[in-house]
Amino acid sequence: MSANTDICGKGECAGGFSFAEARASLEKENDAIRRRSARHGIWFAVAVYVAFALPDRWLIPDVAPVTIAVRFVVAVIALLSFETLRFVNAKTVWLDVTCALALLLGYAGWLCPAIETRDVAAMSYYMIFGAIFMMGANLFFSFPFRLSVATSSLVLCTFFITITAVFPSSQSFKVAFGLFYVSCFVFTSFVNWRLNAERQKVLHNAAEARHQQWEATERGRALLELSHTDYLTGIGNRRALDRRLDECWSEWTTQHRNFSVFLIDVDFFKRFNDRYGHLEGDRCLTVVANALKGVVEASEGMIGRYGGEEFIVVMPIDTPKAAMIVAERIRVEVELLAIAHDERPDDTCIVTVSVGVAFTREQSGEKVERLVREADLALYSAKASGRNCIRHFDPALPRPHDSAGKLVPLLAAAIDRKLVSLVYQPIFDVTNEKARAVEALMRLRMPDGTAVSPKIFIPVAERTGAILELGRWAIETACREILMTDRMATVSVNVSPIQLRSPGFAASVADILSGCGVSGSRLALEVTEGLDMDMQSEVLRCITDLRTLGVEIWLDDFGSGFAGLSWLRAIEFQTVKVDRTFLHDCSTPRGLTMLTDMIALIRNRGNTIVVEGVETEAQLSLLKGLRIDRVQGFHMGMPVSAELLNAA
Ligand code: C2E
Ligand code: MG
Ligand code: MG
Repeated sequence: MSANTDICGKGECAGGFSFAEARASLEKENDAIRRRSARHGIWFAVAVYVAFALPDRWLIPDVAPVTIAVRFVVAVIALLSFETLRFVNAKTVWLDVTCALALLLGYAGWLCPAIETRDVAAMSYYMIFGAIFMMGANLFFSFPFRLSVATSSLVLCTFFITITAVFPSSQSFKVAFGLFYVSCFVFTSFVNWRLNAERQKVLHNAAEARHQQWEATERGRALLELSHTDYLTGIGNRRALDRRLDECWSEWTTQHRNFSVFLIDVDFFKRFNDRYGHLEGDRCLTVVANALKGVVEASEGMIGRYGGEEFIVVMPIDTPKAAMIVAERIRVEVELLAIAHDERPDDTCIVTVSVGVAFTREQSGEKVERLVREADLALYSAKASGRNCIRHFDPALPRPHDSAGKLVPLLAAAIDRKLVSLVYQPIFDVTNEKARAVEALMRLRMPDGTAVSPKIFIPVAERTGAILELGRWAIETACREILMTDRMATVSVNVSPIQLRSPGFAASVADILSGCGVSGSRLALEVTEGLDMDMQSEVLRCITDLRTLGVEIWLDDFGSGFAGLSWLRAIEFQTVKVDRTFLHDCSTPRGLTMLTDMIALIRNRGNTIVVEGVETEAQLSLLKGLRIDRVQGFHMGMPVSAELLNAA
């Protein structure tokens, strides 16, 4: 048994293309070939058999009329029987049997009248041709081995009976011709046996090869499917959708076949995750994905997860109106799921989706990305309209990132043009209400003096890479303005994940520290837990290097993202800053429990705790009661310039 059959067990693979099946299919193909060759064989053999009428006339002319008549009769019977069986689609073995019987009949039918000839000498030579029938059975036709041997044995027996009992022949004739016939029988049977064995081996190998090829194709298909599947929801992933997008785009550019792109966002999903936990969040995404899949596939579209809680649909469709109908069906379908979401800030208390729809149009530009961008703008508009709604792309829609366009060149030149500055917000020790540290916060002004919020320009700087230079500048400026002047013992500077990932970041911090002549232990870097910041080894290595310099690593906005706990587990932070939303939610008993639980968790890990966003005296007293180490907020100190900090 082959390796494959061993693996599959009894040669069968459940649900697959087993070795036995491969063999059966090959045998079927082989059968068709055998039928064809049997037909060619019998027609050719009959033609030769009839053509031997001429030697009959020359060698045994006295009985030739009878032998020739027999030849024709046998020829007609053989061909008629064969063609009839073929016509009624009889099994191949019956076609073989017919050929074998034709051989026997041909031989015996000719021999009987032929031995009556008076020309005994000529006949004794002529009888040698009987061996041809034996060879025909063993080598000319492709009979199964046993049929070949049975046929050639009967030819041999007929010959022996004839020369011993009927045909007058000398002893030497009997010995010589007898031996010749027997040798012929043995050799042709042996060759036939070898050929049959070889044929079986070839068949077996071919079946094995076919089975292996099927297995390899299956494995390849499974791998391909896996690489195009979203691990969480089981629908297509971004790669799969990008491919489909490209296909649709090329159909649009070559054949003008319209299609639509939907971007679907689960409304307030972050809050859902925060409220119900990640497991529930994952389950919610899976249920929503399946519901969307049902609607989309019914309309012959393809759906995939575009990242986080965002889905993308690509759908060949004729009109924008038809696309909007499907989009609305999608929205309603999710609404009908009625998944509870009581942490939404609006009146709705179930999970809903917002849908942005873009449709191919002449002005869509040369790239498919433009269409996706249009769907994104439409989605933005749907969210701006209060969510749980669908919006079609309209060139007149407000563009959320229009200001980003202006920011890009501004950020690149911001340091040289002195458009950026730092302000510092004190961080107070709760016990003695003294500020021992300040947090550096970056500020950007447009050339006309308008302030731009860090929430707007930091993401743009991160996207363009300008954050690397700005971030380095911030660390250096904070060291010069605060540490070199001894305004404060410690300064904390926010760093972006992109900085931590950039090679040489730790070395540049070391340069700054030595340039300013300050100890690394007076600098803290605030790292924000972020969705897109996975535990990349270069980040961890960079953090270790910074630690070697004595620099403290603080975890900022703890609890605001998805990865906080895994961050806490992987990295030893000196300080954890609790996101201000937790303090602000303390007006409700559940919010208060949440904050106390979180504080207990951090305290157990031995980190210093800073609570951000203290805006009222009540909040401060609450934190005092909870024995928090440090606090930061507008109530104690607004972010101010380095000069003002001194004066305070
Ligand atoms: P963050 O690091 O959590 O900074 C604290 C933010 O909370 C600051 O906003 C601060 O002005 C604000 N804040 C302080 N006390 C209170 C309070 O009592 N109530 C309220 N509602 N807010 C308060 P800002 O300056 O707008 O900074 C926003 C975010 O931008 C920062 O959050 C930080 O993530 C980022 N950022 C600021 N400067 C930098 C920087 O130099 N580099 C990087 N990578 N990110 C920065
Ligand atoms: Mg911070
Ligand atoms: Mg913060």
